[in-house]
Amino acid sequence: MTHALRVFSLAVGDELLDGRVADANTRDLGDALAQLGLELCGARTVPDARSAIVAALRAAVDEADVVVTSGGLGPTSDDITGECVAEAAGVGLRFDAEAFARIGMMFAARAIPMPESNRRQALLPSSAQTLHNDQGTAPGFVTPFASARGASEVWSFPGVPREYRHLLEERLVPRLRARLAQGAPSVMVRRTLRSLGLSESAVGERLGALEREHPDVRVQYRAAFPEILVRVIVTGADRDAATARADELALRARSDIGGSVYGAGDEPLEERALRALEQRGATLAVAESCTGGLVAKRLTDVPGSSAVVQGGVVAYANQVKTAALGVPTTMLDEHGAVSEAVARAMAEGARARLGATWALSTTGIAGPSGGSADKPVGLVWFGVAGPGGTAAHQKRLPDFGRERIREMASAWALRFLLEAVERT
Ligand code: ATP
Ligand code: MG
Repeated sequence: MTHALRVFSLAVGDELLDGRVADANTRDLGDALAQLGLELCGARTVPDARSAIVAALRAAVDEADVVVTSGGLGPTSDDITGECVAEAAGVGLRFDAEAFARIGMMFAARAIPMPESNRRQALLPSSAQTLHNDQGTAPGFVTPFASARGASEVWSFPGVPREYRHLLEERLVPRLRARLAQGAPSVMVRRTLRSLGLSESAVGERLGALEREHPDVRVQYRAAFPEILVRVIVTGADRDAATARADELALRARSDIGGSVYGAGDEPLEERALRALEQRGATLAVAESCTGGLVAKRLTDVPGSSAVVQGGVVAYANQVKTAALGVPTTMLDEHGAVSEAVARAMAEGARARLGATWALSTTGIAGPSGGSADKPVGLVWFGVAGPGGTAAHQKRLPDFGRERIREMASAWALRFLLEAVERT
């Protein structure tokens, strides 16, 4: 049986353990690996303490082919990763004159004198290969280790996220890609499905049969409220075969889960909707009552959304629905603000008055008060007006509280928009 290349992240730094700094480097490593069809086999964070770092290194090399350390390469007394790597590998330190000259040049270029302590940054494990770092003073390095796996490598990168990413992308990723190409350990292919409207457990039940029939395929569930993301992960020796199987299983999963699946891939709803509009050269306006601007916020959180989003109206009071969107008072009196007719009129009013190709509206009862027997808390009407006419949709969202109702409503609004645009 072939095995996937095992990569382990070892983050070093007191600041990562006392709540000052979140570990961005392990996340970036995981991201880079995902693009290669790999994933971390484990990750650990240790303080700037010699015994902890050395013990963690020894354990990590037995678990992984490649261990990546982050941090502790600076010039101060608490930066001891290089010494610890040397100790764990059972080698001494060497002074890297070229690395030292580069550090000197960095200071010279900024016209500041180099403190004597920077000399420490050129002291590397004697068996290590230096990785010059164009983004900062500390060089990275790769140290070979004898391990329970035969041979492992420890890659040591600076903690500063920009420098870490630089060495990750310029040095480690090409090396991993080359190793994957020649050794052909197994590849991993992932497919993501996005579902809205079912609970995580309900989605899981619908995929029970698939999981039983394909025990070697991993199915991961992630709740990103109100969406449930399902990942199907196929591992195999041959990339084409694994890809074909992943595609086939993703189709099967999609039909097993049913109508709650609205799309595939890692792109969030708002980005997909914006992309669908942009591809068609279309623009968008929003008219929001119960979501109070949340739909517009989600859309305009996306960089570049100005190419599509014209603007929006938060029409909370009836007189604003009338004055700003042209919803007739007689309609409001007859049907109430939370109604199909008003959802349509809001969308049509926004589309006409804001001069957009498409418009989206929401009107509903977010609670906790304001519900009634025929219009309970959680009832929301949506309007989608476009070049081909106007559609309305109704949802009775579960009463998980005001904030969650508004989040669910904004997601459904974007989904209805996306589906309408994708049909054109
Ligand atoms: P330097 O040469 O800057 O001293 P270094 O390799 O010694 O680099 P650290 O001193 O450990 O790195 O950290 C430098 C900076 O990077 C600090 O601001 C620290 O908070 C940040 N940092 C360290 N590790 C991480 C990490 N895993 N994720 C995000 N930021 C980090
Ligand atoms: Mg540090």
